[in-house]
Amino acid sequence: MALVVAAGRGRRAGGDVAKQYARIGGQPVLRHPLRALSGAAVIDAVLTVIHADDNDLYAACASGIDKLLAPVAGGATRQESVRRGLEALARINPEKVLIHDGARPFIDEALINRVAGALDRHDGALAALPVTDTLKEVRGDIVTGTRDRANLWRAQTPQGFIFARILAAHRRAARRGREDFTDDAAVAEWAGMETTVVEGSANNGKITLAEDLAMADEKLTRAAEYRTGSGFDVHRFCQGSQVTLCGVKISHDMALLGHSDADVALHALTDALLGAVAAGDIGTHFPPSDPQWAGVSSDRFAAHAAALVREKGGRIINADITIICEAPRIGPHRPAMRAATARILGIEPDRISIKATTAEGLGFTGRREGIAAQAAVSVQLPG
Ligand code: MG
Repeated sequence: MALVVAAGRGRRAGGDVAKQYARIGGQPVLRHPLRALSGAAVIDAVLTVIHADDNDLYAACASGIDKLLAPVAGGATRQESVRRGLEALARINPEKVLIHDGARPFIDEALINRVAGALDRHDGALAALPVTDTLKEVRGDIVTGTRDRANLWRAQTPQGFIFARILAAHRRAARRGREDFTDDAAVAEWAGMETTVVEGSANNGKITLAEDLAMADEKLTRAAEYRTGSGFDVHRFCQGSQVTLCGVKISHDMALLGHSDADVALHALTDALLGAVAAGDIGTHFPPSDPQWAGVSSDRFAAHAAALVREKGGRIINADITIICEAPRIGPHRPAMRAATARILGIEPDRISIKATTAEGLGFTGRREGIAAQAAVSVQLPG
């Protein structure tokens, strides 16, 4: 079981949202540890403690991640937030719990395993690193001494505990009015639990200042991988008076035949997005044999593919769509089509290109038997 503490209001990192919802690598900070914990084999479920005002931010941040329990609201201090989280887990009564700061995005599975593994032999285990800098005592701005750094460690999270014991320790601290503990290992120490250290990770720093955010963002962006996807589709003309292209209805002396609204451009785009994340094709997700997709607006297909990209931690960088037909003329509708496509994908219109060409009278599009469309997209995924 993992408990993630993300109820703070910390804005020292700048911006207009608390630091755990600021974006690094295109994703909220908090999404990174949630994904890492959810992906770890030793973790069966993850409970997040959030601020009562952050329900919507959290829902967006957590979408598509497995093993997440419904979040609970935190308290005035970190210690109180952890206690509320532990109380919420009491009905599940797990054997062990790993408590982690939501503002430490670079937790990895090896670290999770080190902390969880140490709980086979100890009541508590925390990730920590030995102090390597020389420690100075300073009064005002004058150095008054040098401290011995031997035996000093810098505590990180996750900190793991036997659940029943850390819950009892937190309850006792609350009853005694002790609310000054800055981490859970300190609560455990005070309660007389035996806690060990395991090797932390230099990567596993806490995001506090704007420069921490900038460094984390740069690290992720450098590690990112870029993928492209391509899609192609054709629909034949039938009798009618309008076609739908990129979500825009365009008057024409024909219509396009298809199971859905036959938006050939959005179908090509949907396949390109699915292709970029190797998630099959439009027929896998929306089988033409399934009556529920009859006549539906194709923006649902493209929005679903965009959501799949986001669930993988990805970001759509751009989409380039080419429509091949003799008629209707695309040019007059291009601004509306770009705006509609941007809205469907949830990205800026300047990331959407819509081009049109004729086939010089050759082939099926040249004979005005139908419209073809192709699309290419570029997607950034976490490294
Ligand atoms: Mg199609």
